[in-house]
Amino acid sequence: MTRAALLASLIACSSPPRAPVAAPPPPSAAADATPPAPDAAPAPDAAPPTPIADAYRDVAARIVAATRTDRGAYTKLAELTDHVGHRLSGSPELDRAIAWASAAMAKDGHDVRTEKVMVPHWVRGAESAAIVAPIARPLVGLGLGGTIATPKGGITAPVVVVTTWEDLAAKKDKVKGAIVLYDVAMPPYDDATGTHYGDVVPFRWAGPSQAAKLGAVAVLMRSVTARSLRSPHTGAMGYDPALPKIPAMAVTVEDAMLLHRLADAGEVKVKLVTSGKMLPDAPSANVIGELRGRELPDEVVVIGAHLDSWDVGQGAHDDGAGVVSVMQALTTLRALGLTPRRTIRVVLFTNEENGGRGGKGYAAAHADELGKHVAGLEMDMGAYPPRGFHVTPAPTASDEVKARIVARMADLSSLLASIGATRATLEGPDADVTPINEKGVLAIGLDVRGSTYFDYHHTEADTFDKIDPAILADDVAAIAVFAYVAADLPTRLDAAE
Ligand SMILES: [Zn+2]
Repeated sequence: MTRAALLASLIACSSPPRAPVAAPPPPSAAADATPPAPDAAPAPDAAPPTPIADAYRDVAARIVAATRTDRGAYTKLAELTDHVGHRLSGSPELDRAIAWASAAMAKDGHDVRTEKVMVPHWVRGAESAAIVAPIARPLVGLGLGGTIATPKGGITAPVVVVTTWEDLAAKKDKVKGAIVLYDVAMPPYDDATGTHYGDVVPFRWAGPSQAAKLGAVAVLMRSVTARSLRSPHTGAMGYDPALPKIPAMAVTVEDAMLLHRLADAGEVKVKLVTSGKMLPDAPSANVIGELRGRELPDEVVVIGAHLDSWDVGQGAHDDGAGVVSVMQALTTLRALGLTPRRTIRVVLFTNEENGGRGGKGYAAAHADELGKHVAGLEMDMGAYPPRGFHVTPAPTASDEVKARIVARMADLSSLLASIGATRATLEGPDADVTPINEKGVLAIGLDVRGSTYFDYHHTEADTFDKIDPAILADDVAAIAVFAYVAADLPTRLDAAE
């Protein structure tokens, strides 16, 4: 979309949003018209379908047809990304995002409120990194979230390259007084094995303290991505309170590989400057919007995403896409006049990226009513083609009950065959619904084919132009069908029987 077209669409959208058209589904959207994608079959260990799909086939087709002709989520995402921008906890931009989301949900007719949460307030400040020997060359770096500042004038020290924890242990005699570079490569995305983020991110999280324990003075982290155009990727790390804190910065894949080659040939020295500062906790809030249930309004299905982002890019995939998808799913159901038995509650969590206080705050504030939470869905893997749902039953559920819930989810997701979102697998939970899952609430994650998600993740490149409006609309469809059916079923989705 050109800038002019975008502006025109934003102006057009300052009038009340058009209700999605409740026309009969076009042939391509009918539930059984398109054969499912090869990998979209229900999980092989799932039981045969129960009657969920039969009872909800017509209404699911209506919801899918309406979402596929609606661009409301895309319009909302343009407002959030282009007009608010990135929104780190404690920043004025996050406050603006909270105000924007509250107003947008009120405009769509939902019951809206905010729930106060105190959040960590870290600010980045000026940063730089450069090779000073055996060559002089600037590096492209981005401090890891939460890093402390270097002393004035920076830190200049030799680099020790490690690729595994064992490698770090083996080089412990060289690490004292050095800068440790974790050059850990992330394997490429694969539809069968996923993103591999979890293989690498422990080095980002724990690497600084593990190096400090051996006397390192700073850490460089190869950016956590399988593909790079020399963009550095930030992300959270956690200092072990028992160990000295040392500065930590992500460098690009290209620069990590250059440093590794130079280190193989002899001594390499880097100069590093960071200015990160942790300020006192700041007030923030979770934003809540509801469609009250018609029969059992005290029972709740949560659909959530996180409103905060890192302080780079626009937080478009992470997690603006999730935010606008859950918002628009609720708007679509309301516009179609679909009021389920139970309440559907949109929760836009604050502070997922560097503290998780929104998810923890929600679980604490709603502790008394978690028994009445049927499920909590989270979307936080970008606007990619939906392929189904990750399912995390209550930790105390027996294997038999877990299998029954997965089978029920496979039955439900068979309603999404027209958009290829029929999987239901035991996995997760996502970060913001982990605290309620630990208290017994069934957690659901939107499962997507996120083939390029980590190319943009936590970088300046996570911007609105990376979003495909038709794919975003399919994410809305998957969430809206899930939310409606889960909230309307005669018996609870998470029932043991
Ligand atoms: Zn996220």
